[in-house]
Amino acid sequence: MKQPPVTGTEKREVVLTGIAASPGIACGTAFEYVKPEPVVDERTLGDSAEVEGDLERFERSIDKSSRELKKILSFARQKVGDAKARILEAQIMVLDDPYLQNAIRKRIREERKNVEFVVHDEITKYATLMMAARDEYMHERAHDMEDLKNRIVRNLHQETMTSKFDGSHIVVAHNLTTADTMILSRNQVLGYATDMGGVTSHAALFSRSLKIPAVVALGDITRSVHSGDTVIIDGYNGRVIVNPGPDSMRAFEERRCTMTAFEEKLAGFRDLPATTTDGHTVELSANIELSEELHYVVMQGSQGVGLYRTESLLIGSDDIPTEEEQLTEYRRICDTIYPGRVIMRTFDIGGDKLASDTAEEANPFLGWRGIRISLDRPEMFMDQLRAMLRASTKKNMAIMFPMITTLAELRLAKQFVARAKSDLRARKIKFDENIPVGVMIEVPAAAMNASALAAEADFLSVGSNDLVQYMLAVDRGNSLVASLYDEFDPAVLVTLKHVVNAGHKQKIWVGICGGMAGNPIAAPLLIGMGMDELSVVPAVLPEIKKIIRSVSYVSLQALAKEALSKGSGHEVKKLLREFIAREIPDIPLGDTHGENRRTARP
Ligand code: PEP
Ligand code: MG
Repeated sequence: MKQPPVTGTEKREVVLTGIAASPGIACGTAFEYVKPEPVVDERTLGDSAEVEGDLERFERSIDKSSRELKKILSFARQKVGDAKARILEAQIMVLDDPYLQNAIRKRIREERKNVEFVVHDEITKYATLMMAARDEYMHERAHDMEDLKNRIVRNLHQETMTSKFDGSHIVVAHNLTTADTMILSRNQVLGYATDMGGVTSHAALFSRSLKIPAVVALGDITRSVHSGDTVIIDGYNGRVIVNPGPDSMRAFEERRCTMTAFEEKLAGFRDLPATTTDGHTVELSANIELSEELHYVVMQGSQGVGLYRTESLLIGSDDIPTEEEQLTEYRRICDTIYPGRVIMRTFDIGGDKLASDTAEEANPFLGWRGIRISLDRPEMFMDQLRAMLRASTKKNMAIMFPMITTLAELRLAKQFVARAKSDLRARKIKFDENIPVGVMIEVPAAAMNASALAAEADFLSVGSNDLVQYMLAVDRGNSLVASLYDEFDPAVLVTLKHVVNAGHKQKIWVGICGGMAGNPIAAPLLIGMGMDELSVVPAVLPEIKKIIRSVSYVSLQALAKEALSKGSGHEVKKLLREFIAREIPDIPLGDTHGENRRTARP
């Protein structure tokens, strides 16, 4: 929601709301990061000397661009680790691609067009194709291609760009690519605020690794802010205040003090179990996407990993990692978390996530996704299962399937596990013979049929991000219907309770690894319903642990019972907020905390 932009000479306060992409709160002056699009004109080259001249300029520009990118890559590796930095390798690979380079050289020679024009035209073709895909990941890659193109053209023009500044600032930009986020972080960046971007963008991912607050998708913050303006950025609730007045400054100071004091207090909970005051213990674990997050997960006092999204291994590479490559990664995770448990989810490709070679789908969320792809790609599935089994020798791993809809799918997937096991036995390779195999409950049909699934699974884990979108017919990533996405809707609550009962009847544990588990007002409700495990984003782990340790299980059971009797999500939220305010008043709920939290991954 936006207020009208400032006009006139007096700087009025403007409040903008976007997506909270990286937590933290900061106040500082803005640094406008403007990347002028290089102007490219089309010229016909006169004689062959001019052609040779342009070919030489092309070689020099490729060389310089390659050196620049390699420098950024090595810096990224140091700062955020190899896996995340891999995304930059993809740009270098495109730059070094002999096919692309030769196509450009050929056109300069044959068409006698100036090098800037040919580079621009050739790379734009790729980027346009990527942009046409329906997949957010491909759009991100298209921005990277545009970035690469502009870099080459800039180097042809021998232009330089300032990415350095003195002092510490909040960076305001239209959009930030992975390389921008990295290069800018050599300065003292207090926060990032951008017009564009999503929570799953790589710039957002980098900001989280760098622990720099970020709010993205602000619409047109670049029109409201100029270098030197004062900006408050709240990466907890996705709010940015430009030219804050005295009241906002006071509120910011208070909020900063509260959050700092609160975070200090939470540090004390790190090594304590997630046990209620009357002795009921819940398994509290963390969701991870990259093995680089492990250190943070351990630091936050997690008991284990409740969801490892293995599809993140596919980011930045065109090929599925081999069995051996996957094994190295899976083993590293299991070894680090040992004796804690790691729940590895098989690839959840499709939907809004990385599509492999999918043809265009009209409804990707209802299409070729998750277990459906794995079952259709036996070789890929077997490689992954063998890698997982081989990494299970410490017996602290469980395997989980995403997007299961029918019992037949679960049975088929389990047959693949059995086949992978017998392959390994034949090769005399060790693995955990009793590895637990569980099912994600994220499709309404699976929730309704939870009893049958529970009879043949070792555990159930609710994927509320998807379950809510499929139950309420609300796209989880579509801001137009974001207000309709209500994880507290009575239909959702009844379904969750049904799944818990179904699992318990079959004497298996039931957990939840969707974003709802990390919502401070939802956690008491979920535990009261009987969830045995909550797997949450690492950042909120101490806060959820504090909540659990502050209340009795008996009171949570009563709370869940009352919540289940309410007629609307609004009433449920009111009840839950009042409960927190009464029982654990030092949990800073803020205005919207716990209600408008975006549920997009992670
Ligand atoms: C979910 O759907 O809740 C879930 C945890 O899976 P993902 O967010 O990766 O789809
Ligand atoms: Mg899901």
